[in-house]
Amino acid sequence: MAADREDVEDTTERAGSGGAESGDGSESGGRGPGPRAYQADGITVTFDARVCRHAAECVHGLPAVFDTTRRPWILPSAAAPEVIAEVVRRCPTGALAYRLADGAAEAPDRPTTVRRTSDGRLLVRGELRVTDATGDVRETPRAMLCGCGRSAEPPYCDRSGACGEHEG
Ligand code: SF4
Repeated sequence: MAADREDVEDTTERAGSGGAESGDGSESGGRGPGPRAYQADGITVTFDARVCRHAAECVHGLPAVFDTTRRPWILPSAAAPEVIAEVVRRCPTGALAYRLADGAAEAPDRPTTVRRTSDGRLLVRGELRVTDATGDVRETPRAMLCGCGRSAEPPYCDRSGACGEHEG
């Protein structure tokens, strides 16, 4: 799975901090913490920079839609909603999510699965409710959790342990 890739890109140091420029898709959510929404006919994509760990499934999977050199960096009008949804589901951390125009959000995997990568991350998919060290609760169909105990943002992986050391 590409979440194990070593060619990790820093996609959202840029993408997540950009301004709310207009484009084919409209962007909302402000500059504060919390997900931003990017809308087009048929789909709304949301992005939560706080949990993105730059596995870059999005930019590799659909560069016409996910382009960190552009503002807005997510352009949901650039592909069919079903195609975007398929790529969003590859995001291992759940930083990306979507809702289709008919109201359908991503259906969580059943049964819930947990997979440990070779470098120690725990990739979890299912109907998840994750509580972090501050008590913040996040409901998500996907999460990348720390498997080495060295994360400063438990239970999420922050790439500071063995997984981070392997990344160039
Ligand atoms: S796939 Fe998800 S975690 Fe990876 S860079 Fe894109 S938004 Fe971030």
